[in-house]
Amino acid sequence: MVKAIVGANWGDEGKGKITDMLAQDADIIVRFQGGANAGHTIVNKYGKFALHTLPSGVFYDHTTSIIGNGVALNVPKLFEEVKSITDKGVPMPKILVSDRAQMVMPYHIDFDKFEEERLGKNSFGSTKSGIAPFYSDKYSKIGFQVSELYGDIDSLKAKIARVAEIKNAMLVNLYHKPAINEDELFNTLMEYKKMLDPFVCDTSAFLWKALKEGKTVLLEGQLGSLKDPDHGIYPMVTSSSTLAAYGAIGAGVPPYEIKQIVTVCKAYSSAVGAGAFVSEIFGDEADELRRRGGDGGEYGATTGRPRRMGWFDCVASKYGCRIQGTTDVAFTVLDVLGYLDEIPVCVGYDIDGEVTTDFPTTVKLEKAKPVLKKLPGWKCDIRGIKKYEDLPENCRKYIEFIEEQIGFPITMISNGPGRDDIIYRNK
Ligand code: GDP
Repeated sequence: MVKAIVGANWGDEGKGKITDMLAQDADIIVRFQGGANAGHTIVNKYGKFALHTLPSGVFYDHTTSIIGNGVALNVPKLFEEVKSITDKGVPMPKILVSDRAQMVMPYHIDFDKFEEERLGKNSFGSTKSGIAPFYSDKYSKIGFQVSELYGDIDSLKAKIARVAEIKNAMLVNLYHKPAINEDELFNTLMEYKKMLDPFVCDTSAFLWKALKEGKTVLLEGQLGSLKDPDHGIYPMVTSSSTLAAYGAIGAGVPPYEIKQIVTVCKAYSSAVGAGAFVSEIFGDEADELRRRGGDGGEYGATTGRPRRMGWFDCVASKYGCRIQGTTDVAFTVLDVLGYLDEIPVCVGYDIDGEVTTDFPTTVKLEKAKPVLKKLPGWKCDIRGIKKYEDLPENCRKYIEFIEEQIGFPITMISNGPGRDDIIYRNK
């Protein structure tokens, strides 16, 4: 069977930890979208890791880690990441790379940087990893698939020339930068081929066979529902779908095989990049939550930049869970809230004087003001607690209130960054 692990919010919900935890009982973990622009932070017996491209199952020797066809594959970054974990004593993971994955080209990264520079204060807050230019090219049908490295050399060279012609028009005229060196680009691709060679295969066929044999497959999503290009806060979204449904496409598995959708939802909010963020808080209140948040503060795993902070948003999370097709909610980072006397929660959006609990499109979202309700805090450290009944009463009330508001069952509660910091709740 296939289980998807995806985010309900703006990303950084703790999907990496939940995936790493669920990977204990899984055979294969697949990344199905996104690229090296966002990261998952994982704490386990080997140390603390920020993964960007590798699936969060790489720490086990019983799992196979797949880079699916839907991923924006940055080849050097992938191998840097493999080295960064093996250098810390993690055994070399079993990795497979889809022959249908497309590669982030050096000029995608340049274009990302140049465009953000050009936009100046109107920029999207891109991590400048080349993801938007990459996906634009994929859908303009001028991307480079891994399989093409194994095709006819002359055709590859001809394609490089054809693509360079288009790219150079923008590079030279719009950005006033040097044109692409075609020979250099070809050599870079040949380097990529050498690096990828031992890992490339038809991963969709591999998964099909594995599923027939009864193996358990995890699909690991990047970012969250609200960053989905269709269902999120367009245009302040990422460039590939963050939804579990896309897992079927980005991994190449039948949609009917996805039996469980674990939507990871953080006990407060954080976001990176620009865009409406209704329950956002500022000043000292935000600084304190940011400092105490996650494991060592809410700062980007890829960029180190401070995340925007806010209270839990029931409107956004209810929508985020619905659009994922949630079967289970994993409610994370709850331990962080133990310092608060009262915990505000956003229970509605006031848009032009009307209160709604339905998440609107971006145009209306920009006008929304949060309707807050304060719940009593529990004022203690809940780390180490293993049973739901042992949580303080106000903490259980917080969970149950949120569960009722979002309308999906919270079956897992994460009360610390480690693999074992989890409370299962039978619903
Ligand atoms: P992801 O991209 O969804 O995997 O999320 P990130 O890795 O960016 O952010 C989650 C952060 O919170 C990481 O630093 C995790 O180690 C940490 N984390 C995950 N679950 C918990 C938890 O229950 N409690 C605490 N304190 N930290 C957690």
